[in-house]
Amino acid sequence: MADVFKNFIGGEWIESATGATFERRNPATGELVGRFTESDGRDVDAAVAAAKKAYASWRLYPAPKRGEILFKAARILEDRKEHFAREMTEEMGKVLDETRGDIQEAIDMTYYMAGEGRRMFGQTTPSEMRNKFQMSIRKPHGVVGLITPWNFPMAIPSWKMMPAIVAGNTVVLKPATFTPKLSIRLVEVLEEAGIPPGVVNIVLGSGAKVGEPLLNHPDVPVISFTGSTETGKAVAIASAKHNKRLTLEMGGKNAVIVMDDANLDLAVEGILWGAFGTTGQRCTATSRVVVHKQVQAELAERLADRAGKLRIGNGLDRDVRVGPLVSDGQLQSVHSYVGVGVADGADLIAGGKIVTDGELVNGHFHEPTIFNNVAPEMRIAREEIFGPVVSLLPVHSLDQAIEVVNGVQYGLSAAIFTQDVNNAFRAMQDIDTGILYVNAGTTGAEIHLPFGGVKATGNGHREAGTAAIDFYTEWQSIYVDYSGKLQRAQIDPV
Ligand code: NAD
Repeated sequence: MADVFKNFIGGEWIESATGATFERRNPATGELVGRFTESDGRDVDAAVAAAKKAYASWRLYPAPKRGEILFKAARILEDRKEHFAREMTEEMGKVLDETRGDIQEAIDMTYYMAGEGRRMFGQTTPSEMRNKFQMSIRKPHGVVGLITPWNFPMAIPSWKMMPAIVAGNTVVLKPATFTPKLSIRLVEVLEEAGIPPGVVNIVLGSGAKVGEPLLNHPDVPVISFTGSTETGKAVAIASAKHNKRLTLEMGGKNAVIVMDDANLDLAVEGILWGAFGTTGQRCTATSRVVVHKQVQAELAERLADRAGKLRIGNGLDRDVRVGPLVSDGQLQSVHSYVGVGVADGADLIAGGKIVTDGELVNGHFHEPTIFNNVAPEMRIAREEIFGPVVSLLPVHSLDQAIEVVNGVQYGLSAAIFTQDVNNAFRAMQDIDTGILYVNAGTTGAEIHLPFGGVKATGNGHREAGTAAIDFYTEWQSIYVDYSGKLQRAQIDPV
């Protein structure tokens, strides 16, 4: 039997307390990707204890030196990029170009946060008293619990882990059960780069058996979660009971506006990439196209024609544009929305079927699917589908388009295609999302700007850039009085 991938706790690769394992199979072929140790609360306790012990010295290890370990890790990731990209395609299915992009995000984030080791700026301000100095500095929190989804198996763990550890925290990572291998690769790289034992720990297993004990652990004051809005709400309730600091990155229902003055060639490219890249399994995937009536017919025809030509198959094949869904459950869930759209009266103009032809028979494939003449109140226009399904919603004006874009519970990403600068600025002003693109699709965030969403997508925090450092540090304001006498702020004269 193939080796079992283990937990990493206190600098050792060890089997879970249960001794049980779970397996992961390639969603394109059904072949075994690996067997993984299946953990429970006892393993979480051990990992948190190791992280707590390591924190005592890691918080005092100079931040620029922490950054040096990250620089080394980034260079190792660069060396292994191609290998990891292939492993990621085998584990979760997205095409090679995109898994390379996933690893590249991790590389970018690791370099960026390595540099933060020499910044992590605080503030100094003048005092209102004489002979008094004041400043604010950043301090780490302690042990941070990280809970991640399967769609960006290396990028998302790196977005959380790198800022957390450069700031002096120690971490326990619980990756999704569909994609443990690439999270393990990231931890292996950090180990090789010289991260001290206990600073980074990984515990493999389910949300119920590993995620929940981590959420409820009294020695974990901070939780960072990315996943569905439904799970995120449960995470928020559990964290609130323990008064934990929490960041939530959750679902989306991202829209592209196509105005009557848009460059349609560009809009078609942007929509196809946003809707069908990663087989629609991105939090920022384009799932609504709010299109001006004047160009609706032409856009619908061009999108349907192009979607029908996208090659479906194993993401390792370089001609393939649409890989499998991550699991059979996800495939069935996505496909059920095709029935919902038809039943609600939308026009199915492309795709709509599960694909089982020839060598695809053992995978979880679905045709790129487009609905036209979708009304904003239909379920396919409101609920996150998380698959290759996009809806065209016709409108008469920019005002109406903005109303439709904002009329859902989510607020992650949106885009507008227009050649009119006034339309672009109206969109920037009035669209309620955490991310907005002008003349580009809804995906494509870079790692040095804040990332996250409003409304049901988030809880007010942001990942990436310096916003991540804000989350993983606590401010301490320090006043140093060198006057030699008691000076009472707001009371004594200068
Ligand atoms: P999910 O919510 O099912 O799982 C996310 C993680 O939470 C997994 O590791 C899972 O094991 C864990 N979990 C499940 N139940 C738990 C519990 N009760 N307590 C603690 N942990 C628990 O999400 P998923 O299916 O892995 O990912 C897809 C979802 O993630 C989509 O909704 C997508 O929009 C969202 N997502 C959001 C962003 C973003 O930045 N906004 C990015 C990527 C994915």
